[in-house]
Amino acid sequence: MHDLTIVIPVKDPPDLQRFVRENLEVLSASKKVVIDSGRGEQLGRLPNALLFQRQVPMWEARRIGYEEVRTPFTLNLDADTILPNGYVLDSLNALRKNSCDAVAIDYDPPQGHYAFGTSIWRTELLKKLYDYPPKAVEKLIKVGEREWVTAFQNGFCECMYMWARLIRSRAKLETLGYKATHLKKPCSFR
Ligand SMILES: [Zn+2]
Repeated sequence: MHDLTIVIPVKDPPDLQRFVRENLEVLSASKKVVIDSGRGEQLGRLPNALLFQRQVPMWEARRIGYEEVRTPFTLNLDADTILPNGYVLDSLNALRKNSCDAVAIDYDPPQGHYAFGTSIWRTELLKKLYDYPPKAVEKLIKVGEREWVTAFQNGFCECMYMWARLIRSRAKLETLGYKATHLKKPCSFR
């Protein structure tokens, strides 16, 4: 998939071997930008991968990744996610036909909203819209290794924020009936 780049932020992944094994078809077919904030260096050894090792929050990792994307389409792929067969090809077909600007799917079991951490975008739009976290939640308090608490904690997350940005920009969101598998709790980064 020469027109797709996969941006993978990784920090203490639950099962990197399984992530690589079960996503191998997609991972082998496209360029990858890996932003490693802990225990993700193995992904940088995949063919056609660019590795950055930076201790940064997830949103900063995504931004570093997006800056390196030169293809028309970008796949957000968190390192704790197994993609369902067919999702990437069907999404690219929709994007190439110009019938949408991004394609979202949910997880199994459902997390109740479409995931940003597993989503495919028109790169130009993604770069333009991605400005997470919003000002109102810039005050983050770290509690433990990976958990952040904000005043918006209940029902607010990066996914909801980005879909709202997309809809407000009048871009078109496609949702396909696929479900990705999560290797840890869904939407763990808010
Ligand atoms: Zn979410």
